[in-house]
Amino acid sequence: MKGKNLEEYCNVAGFEEITFGELVNRWGDIYGNKIAIKDKDEEVTYWELMKKSQELVGVLKNLGIREKSIVALQCTNRICFIEILFALFRMGTVPIMVLPAYREQEVIKVMQKTNADAYIGPIEYMGYSYKNIETEIKRVIPEVITLLIDKNFTDAENLIVDEYFDDKNVVYDDVAILLLSGGTTGEPKLIPRTHADYIYNAKMAAERSCLDQQSVYLAALSIAHNMPLACPGILGTLYAGGTVILSYYSSPDEIMELIEEEGVTITGLVPTLAQLCMELLEIDEFDISSLKVIITGGARLEAKLAEDIIRNFHCILQNQFGTAEGLVMSTSLNDPVEWTLKYQGKPISEADRIRIIDEEGKDVPEGQSGELIVRGLYTIENYYNEPQCNTKFTDDGYYRTGDRAVITIDGNVRVLGRMKEQINRAGEKIQPSEIEESLLELREVQQTVVIAIDDPLLGQKSCAFVQFRPGCNLDEKEICSKLQQKGIVRYKIPDQIEVIEEWPVTKIGKIDINTLKRKASIK
Ligand code: AMP
Repeated sequence: MKGKNLEEYCNVAGFEEITFGELVNRWGDIYGNKIAIKDKDEEVTYWELMKKSQELVGVLKNLGIREKSIVALQCTNRICFIEILFALFRMGTVPIMVLPAYREQEVIKVMQKTNADAYIGPIEYMGYSYKNIETEIKRVIPEVITLLIDKNFTDAENLIVDEYFDDKNVVYDDVAILLLSGGTTGEPKLIPRTHADYIYNAKMAAERSCLDQQSVYLAALSIAHNMPLACPGILGTLYAGGTVILSYYSSPDEIMELIEEEGVTITGLVPTLAQLCMELLEIDEFDISSLKVIITGGARLEAKLAEDIIRNFHCILQNQFGTAEGLVMSTSLNDPVEWTLKYQGKPISEADRIRIIDEEGKDVPEGQSGELIVRGLYTIENYYNEPQCNTKFTDDGYYRTGDRAVITIDGNVRVLGRMKEQINRAGEKIQPSEIEESLLELREVQQTVVIAIDDPLLGQKSCAFVQFRPGCNLDEKEICSKLQQKGIVRYKIPDQIEVIEEWPVTKIGKIDINTLKRKASIK
């Protein structure tokens, strides 16, 4: 399957016309007996990863999985899945990265959409038996090959290598992987990333995070996500010759324990998980002195939380904005702290062209906000098999992120929220992030999310969900008057305030706005 045309980027510094198969062979040669990855039960060296992924090609082919076909890969954070991932890369067989939280309906939908040949998943994870998914796939698409595995699969003595597999048929601009878009509405779209563009993505993200052979990266979230996979994630860490530690449950206590036990130097977290880890740090003792960098991404990081993270973890915070469609931006490790608190930094590649446009598609004057669009080496120009999604791309090939942002005179990008999140209250525009920031300045408020809800009179009105710090409380009137005292104009004061104790989260761990909207509208 041919991917995006990369010819125009061949001279970009750092870009290589290379496949994952070639890369894992190179790693085996350079880093040999160094530990590449550790999971909760075992570890693998760079050399073993190279060999295992070669042997597994034979096993997968014996099972009937064809070269250059498509496979739904529902992986947990275990080495065996990374070995399979590399075996598929070698075969030119394209894995769809399915989150472990997906269930039969969602898995079958993506398989049907792509005519996938096979399904590979875990036997069990978090008390759920994936046999249910396998059985349903067999019923609905009986011709599909299914395989449920645990760590013993790649340890099996009967790993048969029937022939030496030569992966020369796979080339750098073939599609290597299909990522699922993280949209909160509708069905996820499939994002085709080529070998060379995804390798470049991981490499440039690793450079921005200054990874090297001493780095110990903790993959805290599910490796089906773009961030722990390639921003810089597993692939960026391996590129730099470091060691990857896989967290199995992604729970705050496991994460904190692994940082201590494995001497983790860098990890990537979504802001809500960073907050939970921080809360644990307040009540339990962990020696996290090895930790040098925390990357937060996937959702907006409020300045207040950013400050708390830096203070409590005593490390450098890297504010990252990433999309599975491509564009990754982040602050640099030596940026002034004020930048980290406010900005998502700069694109990781010199070839990233970013612009801010208005509703008519015209570039906005300098310093004004609008929609962030991007074109570049590793950003897609089309979704897989989704012609009706053309509105996500401009006529000149820019990907429309759907995020409202502003570019500062220093070239930093400040992401303000989703375009659609902007509240239109009887014609007056309110950016939720502005009100959230003011609410977070109140001593009593721990976390808050401001959303738009439909209103028959105003069109839309604002609703603030507020979580108080333990032992704190304010009533609606008090909150509103405190905001007024801060100089917030009347129409921006939330029309409705809801106190919340626990945040509903999506399968990716982001706050579930749709559930909040439903809750707010019931009132
Ligand atoms: P995904 O494709 O699942 O990685 O989601 C990408 C989207 O997540 C972006 O378009 C943003 O809406 C959001 N996002 C990622 N990182 C950040 C960030 N640092 N600040 C605000 N939004 C973010």
